Amino acid sequence: MNKKQPLRPKPGNVVHLEDYDPGDTGGYADKDAARELLKDNRDRMRELQEVLWAEHKHALLIVLQAMDAGGKDGTIRHVMHGVNPQGVQVSGFKVPTSEELDHDFLWRIHQHTPPRGMIGIFNRSHYEDVLVVRVEKLVPEPVWQARYEHINAFERLLTDAGVTILKFYLHISRDEQKERFQARLDDPTKNWKFAKGDLTVRAKWGQYMAAYEDALTRCNTEWAPWYIVPANKKWYRNLVISSRIVETLEKLNLRYPDPEPDLDQVVIPD
Ligand code: ADP
Repeated sequence: MNKKQPLRPKPGNVVHLEDYDPGDTGGYADKDAARELLKDNRDRMRELQEVLWAEHKHALLIVLQAMDAGGKDGTIRHVMHGVNPQGVQVSGFKVPTSEELDHDFLWRIHQHTPPRGMIGIFNRSHYEDVLVVRVEKLVPEPVWQARYEHINAFERLLTDAGVTILKFYLHISRDEQKERFQARLDDPTKNWKFAKGDLTVRAKWGQYMAAYEDALTRCNTEWAPWYIVPANKKWYRNLVISSRIVETLEKLNLRYPDPEPDLDQVVIPD
């Protein structure tokens, strides 16, 4: 492993995932060391989310991408724990329906982008259209090649419309995926999470990494940054993501709206 890599690659830099250690814990010794920090982040997130809603000016879009068993569901469960569910919308993107395939690839995505006041979470996203679609050759190469630019323009449009975008690639190692798959096989309450087809995808690990590297390189813009999150350790993954979310919401300078005038004169009738 080379020297420690930043979570956020510089826009324009070519990403090589083998330079990023999926087992990194940022210097924290263990889960206990991070517990309080995660709790603080969640508390702050709860406060900020309320102002985001009250102000109704901005939206936050969080994109989660990972290989199978990479921890997208766990991230949503742990990081958003305690945030008012009314202010959060989670959208998952599966194999497109025939109706969706009859439209451009961003059509189904756009319908799920968060409105002002809301946090939207994408569990998979438009990036599947340059990942699985590319590796499985579901469209001709010129079609997926053009999509990086389409994605950048789409994300720019959202940003211009008041949506702040954070994209997280949950980076796990191949060994970690094996362990997590094995746990799904061993535990009857987790069997439902395992599909034999997951092994077909796993067999193409190298091709998926190459596709991810391109997406992380070509769509890492100033307005819609990618973060490469070391995700072998779930507690560190949660800490990193919650910290970035808090930091981003803080930067929006959210304000409660001005109250109606003369509220101090209001007398509530008996
Ligand atoms: P998850 O693994 O996210 O919990 P599923 O097991 O239902 O949910 O997986 C969803 C599947 O849909 C994945 O295999 C993913 O690659 C696939 N998928 C998502 N978007 C697309 C797309 N645009 N084209 C083809 N397949 C897609």
